Amino acid sequence: MFQNKIKVIIGSLVLFAIIGTFSACFSPYKGETGTININLGGNARAVGMPYPPTDINDVLIDLELRIQLQGPTGTQNHTLEKGVSSAFFTVAPGLWHVTVNAYHNAIDHYATGTGSVDVKAGQNNSVTILMEHIHLWAANGTPTVAPTCTATGIGPVLCTPCGKTEASGVVPALGHDYGGWTVTITSTCIAAGVETGICNNDPTHTNTRPIPVLPHSHVPATGICPVTGCGALTYNLGDTGPGGGKIFYVADGLSGRTLGFTLYQTAIDTVGSTAYYLEAATTNKSSSTWATSPFTQDIAGTGTEIGTGRKNTALILGTDTGAPAASACNTHNEGGQTDWFLPSQDELLQLWLNRVSANFTTTGFFWSSSQNDTGTARAYQFFLDGTYTPANSGKDNLTFSRPIRAF
Ligand SMILES: [Zn+2]
Ligand SMILES: [Zn+2]
Ligand SMILES: [Zn+2]
Repeated sequence: MFQNKIKVIIGSLVLFAIIGTFSACFSPYKGETGTININLGGNARAVGMPYPPTDINDVLIDLELRIQLQGPTGTQNHTLEKGVSSAFFTVAPGLWHVTVNAYHNAIDHYATGTGSVDVKAGQNNSVTILMEHIHLWAANGTPTVAPTCTATGIGPVLCTPCGKTEASGVVPALGHDYGGWTVTITSTCIAAGVETGICNNDPTHTNTRPIPVLPHSHVPATGICPVTGCGALTYNLGDTGPGGGKIFYVADGLSGRTLGFTLYQTAIDTVGSTAYYLEAATTNKSSSTWATSPFTQDIAGTGTEIGTGRKNTALILGTDTGAPAASACNTHNEGGQTDWFLPSQDELLQLWLNRVSANFTTTGFFWSSSQNDTGTARAYQFFLDGTYTPANSGKDNLTFSRPIRAF
């Protein structure tokens, strides 16, 4: 493994920095090493700069150096912070090619230079890179030959990074400017629409881009989108779901709601799939214990989040096959649906928070499928005034449960 050291000189300051290891960039070299000492040539560090700086740091402060070393052990890329003008790199012996690119404000390619150095083992091998400024020309007044969207023109130009001007330079092409977009095909909930843009520089240039599909129209009770040719199933809070129960949680991405949640379907499901709705069964299960005697079986791996209740239920029944509350929900059959389960702690809370939509009016204690510890499981106590209290309830307590399903 290499540990490359960079020695940095800023004016009279000498700093040392360690730049990690570069094992990912080249194969490890086990023999002797030498150092490359890179110095940047030219008073301004960028040949062609029209204003030689009075202080070298005036220029260095504004330039970030990106150095590429290509040699016997591969390619290394290093970026020096602004203001750093000199660097040492420890490398394997042999011929190394050095490329230095300087960037102004991290974006404009300001200057470039190359060189090479034959690195001898155990020696400090210096190389001076003469930096050449690269002008970034832009139109500076009215061109004599106007540029088009795709072709360059001729006229006065200015390099903003260095301030140099030329009376008759190459004016860059304009590029298309599709500023004004108009809808040419309207979106529906079935298909994306189309917007067409006309180039402000030349109206014969046009371009198109898609408009996202619209959300489905919600129809309470049926949940069927009425748009001709659609008929997609969609739900609002309080809609009757596919199982004949009430939708009490919606993650459809509309109206500021999150889009989808991860639903874990089996005891061994660690990946999950995306679901969008929680539906509550129309009735409670009569009060029962959470576990079977001796009420201390450990159900490892239950979760509390939305999307975990179905997996929790499978985990409970995988260990405690007769667990009453989980079993009652798991065997619930309503509306032709058989994938009901005991809600997780957070799912159960949503049931209460959206109790009007869910038509969930019972107060008192309700089980969740989230285990707290070997002797207790998480429950909520719901009160007539709408408040609620979480509780870690002994698994031998007699408590209500309400099956839910997710899809
Ligand atoms: Zn320039
Ligand atoms: Zn154009
Ligand atoms: Zn639709």
